[in-house]
Amino acid sequence: MLEARDLHFSYGRGRGTLVLAGVDWQVAPGATTLLLGPNGAGKSTLLKLLSGFERPQRGSVSVAGDASRDTLHREVAWMPQDVQPARGLTVAEQVEYVAWLAGLDRATARRRAGDAIEAVDLVAKRDVRTDRISGGQLRRVGLAQALVRRAPVLLLDEPTAGLDPAQTLNFRSILRDVEAPGGVVVSTHQVNDLEQDVDRVTVLAEGELRFDGPVEEFRGLG
Ligand code: ADP
Ligand code: ADP
Repeated sequence: MLEARDLHFSYGRGRGTLVLAGVDWQVAPGATTLLLGPNGAGKSTLLKLLSGFERPQRGSVSVAGDASRDTLHREVAWMPQDVQPARGLTVAEQVEYVAWLAGLDRATARRRAGDAIEAVDLVAKRDVRTDRISGGQLRRVGLAQALVRRAPVLLLDEPTAGLDPAQTLNFRSILRDVEAPGGVVVSTHQVNDLEQDVDRVTVLAEGELRFDGPVEEFRGLG
């Protein structure tokens, strides 16, 4: 289980204001969790720490008690808020390239990229350059890049922010079929966004957890 203990984090070598002020959290396995909080609450920072891209100044992130960076990279796939593909590559080449960067051999990278592109419903765009596709399609490339790792835990940072309603619905329907046994976390700053599709809700505000429980309980509060 992916677990955060007493996480403290601030930017600027620990001299800035605390962005996370003692977060204890376990990502629920086999469930989809909505990480909800206003802009600036620390959601992106928390997801970066959970995937090993940032290190906490105090506290720890671990999987089954193992806090090494290699373990986090292996166990956790993370989709950043802005997906920035390499220049000039097609959708298929981009996803394959990311799979290769993750350490897969070329044949496996190609096979997994093909599977991921199917999973995100981009087969029709596989040979189109990533600078020629829509914002919604680019998000799906980002999801494919995360899926290609086949990590048990999947963390998605505001995957539907800035998408129009049709693109949002499309992304949600794709997400419903995504499987990650260690748990899926989707962050958002919009309450109604995605809420229908999740099992649990975690609320982060000013760097602290304010709620963590089943979605039914969360709705009961409103
Ligand atoms: P959220 O994802 O909830 O919007 P973030 O984790 O992006 O929140 O940001 C939390 C706080 O940290 C904000 O005050 C933000 O301005 C600050 N912050 C985020 N990234 C950086 C950075 N690279 N350098 C300095 N401050 C940052
Ligand atoms: P490094 O840590 O030196 O970047 P890695 O082998 O850990 O090398 O990562 C290779 C590439 O895969 C990098 O581009 C990185 O952004 C990406 N990556 C690594 N871990 C993850 C992860 N958990 N989720 C998504 N992308 C990742």
